[in-house]
Amino acid sequence: MTDELRQNPEPLLLILSSPSGAGKTTLTQRLLRDFSNRLTFSVSLTTRQPRPNEVDGQDYHFVDEAAFRAKVEAGELAEWAEVHGNLYGTSVSEIERARAQGAQALLFDVDYQGARQIKAKLPQAVGVFILPPSMAELRRRLSGRGTESPESLERRFAAAKREIEHYPFFDYLVLNQELQHALAELTGIIHAELCRRPRLARRAEALLHE
Ligand code: ADP
Ligand code: 5GP
Repeated sequence: MTDELRQNPEPLLLILSSPSGAGKTTLTQRLLRDFSNRLTFSVSLTTRQPRPNEVDGQDYHFVDEAAFRAKVEAGELAEWAEVHGNLYGTSVSEIERARAQGAQALLFDVDYQGARQIKAKLPQAVGVFILPPSMAELRRRLSGRGTESPESLERRFAAAKREIEHYPFFDYLVLNQELQHALAELTGIIHAELCRRPRLARRAEALLHE
């Protein structure tokens, strides 16, 4: 096989979105563990305060608003949005890093505004929206996580239906009722997307030239 045929194709760009508390972070962490070095997480910038268990540079790059706005001005962000009163954004360099590393897939944990901006720039990206089993369970999960002030909890919960309204924009919907089941569905989506014909066409062509 020639070097060209051995080259990694472009990484699968996988966007995960959901209302706050539906389980996106939990599912992302499990996927990163299961796919280990084949799946890369796009570490976003945010102006929100870190939660006690969060690691700077790993969960997010925590920055102040001036630093965030400077990156916007410099054109360093592929997308950005205000979500629940804080600024969040994806650096262009995260996408370049995944390409340079030859990652099979790059996972974006962004809200629907970010998902729309990524798709507008990179139409090949695949969007998955995570649904909670019910609004009551969403509220239970948000408050059970124990990370939000009462005001932040109300703000996030009040935004949930407005976020769910954007579900028609996404390619896949995953119901996160039972965690293992949702994880299996997400894993299935990733495997199926990695088997799309353009990703393997060069393999097929190589066989024809043997
Ligand atoms: P998000 O990142 O979407 O805001 P999290 O991943 O932080 O949501 O999940 C919110 C809370 O719900 C966490 O405490 C998490 O442990 C819990 N959780 C996630 N998925 C499930 C599930 N399938 N069943 C029960 N609890 C869940
Ligand atoms: P949290 O504060 O709970 O970590 O995230 C709040 C919301 O911000 C979630 O919907 C999450 O997906 C979204 N978010 C995280 N990073 C980004 C980002 O880089 N861009 C956009 N647009 N949204 C993000």
